[in-house]
Amino acid sequence: MPDMPVRMLFGPGPSDVAPSVLEAMARPIMGHLDPAFVELLDDVARMLREIFRTANEVTFAVSGTGSAGMEMALVNLLEPGDRAIVCVAGVFGQRLAEIARRCGAQVDEVVAEWGSPVPDAAVREALDRGPAKIVALVHAETSTGMRQPVERIARDAREHGALVVLDAVTSLAGIPVSVDEWGVDVCYSGTQKCLSVPPGLSPITFSTRAMDAARARREPVRSWYLDVTLITRYWGADRVYHHTAPISMLYALHEGLRLVLDEGLEARWERHERLGGELQAALVEMGFDLLAEEGFRLPQLTAAAVPSGVDERAARGRLLDEYGIEVGGGLGVFAGRAWRIGLMGESCREDKLERLLAAILAVTQ
Ligand SMILES: *Cc1c(COP(=O)(O)O)cnc(C)c1O
Repeated sequence: MPDMPVRMLFGPGPSDVAPSVLEAMARPIMGHLDPAFVELLDDVARMLREIFRTANEVTFAVSGTGSAGMEMALVNLLEPGDRAIVCVAGVFGQRLAEIARRCGAQVDEVVAEWGSPVPDAAVREALDRGPAKIVALVHAETSTGMRQPVERIARDAREHGALVVLDAVTSLAGIPVSVDEWGVDVCYSGTQKCLSVPPGLSPITFSTRAMDAARARREPVRSWYLDVTLITRYWGADRVYHHTAPISMLYALHEGLRLVLDEGLEARWERHERLGGELQAALVEMGFDLLAEEGFRLPQLTAAAVPSGVDERAARGRLLDEYGIEVGGGLGVFAGRAWRIGLMGESCREDKLERLLAAILAVTQ
């Protein structure tokens, strides 16, 4: 392998990974049906329930990145002709809507301006227009740095008999997520954001209502690989072969989850809240414009327009070349004029933030 440079990761994912997680990945491979490995899977599921704050039996990690979790949520719940209400306020809301359309659903997009949350009332209006199978929404919209309030929308959806699908890819372990308390039916995440594990797995959880809906389908799920009723026969008590589990990634996830629970969810949320706030105040001081609406800003992912006169691409290139620091460019309507700066998991540390701010100052002033 070529000698790969060591970076400090402040983009929208992947985030920095703790040394003990990398060491876990380097452990010898074992069989995916080995009793010792199966025990590790049980541990992973138990820790995921704690982090999702759910008692859902069906809680596991999809072999694939966050988008695979998104696809698993939708392909299992939607059948051709079903109505899906999808909240769209950025790239990941658009992706949800696109996958729902590919499932053959009739998609009703409830849109908000980029940087603002989708209003509860607009979702309620869509629910009042007629029955919907699901309401899908993105908790932490990584393209804009916006935090979408979930509780009211989830309650309204349930009252209207719709299942709630929540994208917690960038939120889980960074800001509070409470699957059971909020009444979320399917919630998925990704390993490489606030969990600080390499990319490659998508933690997911299904409520009993969601599993009942998946079992009551008129036709089988079009994707064999992502059919939750088949995969749970491996993650559940049966331990039937479905596909070969990515052993090293599950070692890494186990260690990553252990670190999260060792720190404690509240302490972790507080760390993100505090350092994210410091970053945002410092950026404003340096002439950046925060793109998400005040009151709805994510501490772990900040989208900010660069100060006028700064060539965003050149400055971002200097951060990487001269400082070994990665930040993300703008997406969609923010492309070419904004940065997306992540302070997620292991990247969200006081000393790292100081180095980041000093480097940003040097390349933009
Ligand atoms: C990163 C991200 C995804 C997609 O995850 P991948 O791991 O890139 O497939 C989905 N939703 C949100 C909100 C994300 O930030």
